[in-house]
Amino acid sequence: MSQLKSIWNMHEIDKEIKELELENETLEKNDNIQDILLSLQEKEYDITNFKTQLEVDDIKIQRLNQKLKQKNFKLKEVNEKLYSGEITNIKKLSTLQDEEKQIKEELEDIENEILKLLDNIESDTEKLYSVEKEYRTLKDKYKELKRSNKERSNIIKNKLKNLKEEIKKIKINLDKDVLEKYENLNKKKGKAIAKIDGDKCTGCHMSIPLSTISKIKKGNELIYCDNCGRILFYQLEDKA
Ligand SMILES: [Zn+2]
Repeated sequence: MSQLKSIWNMHEIDKEIKELELENETLEKNDNIQDILLSLQEKEYDITNFKTQLEVDDIKIQRLNQKLKQKNFKLKEVNEKLYSGEITNIKKLSTLQDEEKQIKEELEDIENEILKLLDNIESDTEKLYSVEKEYRTLKDKYKELKRSNKERSNIIKNKLKNLKEEIKKIKINLDKDVLEKYENLNKKKGKAIAKIDGDKCTGCHMSIPLSTISKIKKGNELIYCDNCGRILFYQLEDKA
């Protein structure tokens, strides 16, 4: 293989390496995974809140039921006194009636409060189930994304390893001064070698004299673009 063809191959491999490294960087940044993780945290927070609220409401209901029991007991006592026939004093009877009325009102308030809490519990339970379902779906998505990223990352690492091996092999067979030239141009121009398209250098888009082109086509020596200084390369029709 000619030196020119070798550095062209090296240039193509370098390009591929850069692309793969960029892709790997994006994979490692994991922006989409970070977004999902954030969502998962929010949902975990919601789930904890709903569960806490449900526990609190449950305790409230237990307390209200206790209160209900006490009030019912009190009512029974008042009723027994009121309808025992033992109390004849009108004022005392009236006081007892007031007390009965008040306890009944309190009982109704407590019952309403319990009903309201039961409604809340029902609606919070539904919300909790729905968030838990979303959480599980998201968690699956997270695992799948992590798995596929890992898989792709391994493929890239392998490819990079092979490509770097290939570059090493090319470098061994390159003349030292050619390699030096290539690396210096790479540093200076970002791209050391440019293909010829028609009669133009693809590095700077300037025309190249025909005599130069025919020299390049022979591929025996390194020819530089008069304008941008890049090594010029002429690609023969691909023989597939
Ligand atoms: Zn040029």
